[in-house]
Amino acid sequence: MHIPDIKIAVDGYSSTGKSSFAKLIAKEFSFLYLDSGALYRAVTLFAIRNGLTGENGSVDAAALSASLPEINVSFRNADDGSHTYLGDECVDQDIRTIEVSSYVSPVAVIPEVREFVDRILRDYGKAGRVVMDGRDIGTTVFPDADLKIFMVADVNVRAMRRLKEMKASGSDADFDTVLENLKTRDYIDSHRETSPLRQAGDAIVLDNTNMTLEDQMVWLRDIVRSRFGD
Ligand code: C5P
Repeated sequence: MHIPDIKIAVDGYSSTGKSSFAKLIAKEFSFLYLDSGALYRAVTLFAIRNGLTGENGSVDAAALSASLPEINVSFRNADDGSHTYLGDECVDQDIRTIEVSSYVSPVAVIPEVREFVDRILRDYGKAGRVVMDGRDIGTTVFPDADLKIFMVADVNVRAMRRLKEMKASGSDADFDTVLENLKTRDYIDSHRETSPLRQAGDAIVLDNTNMTLEDQMVWLRDIVRSRFGD
């Protein structure tokens, strides 16, 4: 199938499988994959390591905003895919802990942090042939994306998926903690003032509660063929 030089935005709730889907799209279409959540997570890791987080998910927004110029977050591509770096350190594992997950939404609420991440994402996305996943890609980062997908799935199914992922990477977590974290993040993400999580008017909803990744690719190929086929 011929794939034109398009930009694809994949948004949706936490653990709906956005990154697995986006990574597979990138592989099949030979697109660049950008995981916007990984950048918010890397900024959060920086905040934790530098003592800018406190009790009950609190974050020192002023100090973190002032520190942004010294934060160097980037993606580096290798044969096995894209990796997230904080300075020269690969932080793929460290950004997936429950500690980072519990501070990331309060960090992502800070408008200066959002501007900082948006700038990096837009820079990477300039060339096209890109698939980017997040919460506000189709609404804020790339409102001009050629194809916008909004992913939803049952919250219990999402918690099971995230738990499995965490256990596979050696992290210790239980179902109820993961479920609570997902619900809290959904709430903060969709109620924040700056770029809240919401479906773009021109996005297509994909409910993958009962779909495999391959089912989702079949769904996507149909859409790409009908919209962009020659
Ligand atoms: O996608 P992931 O779950 O790794 O994202 C972590 C957090 O980063 C989200 O819960 C959300 O608070 C924030 N985020 C965001 N906007 C994006 C991507 C992620 O606010 N585009």
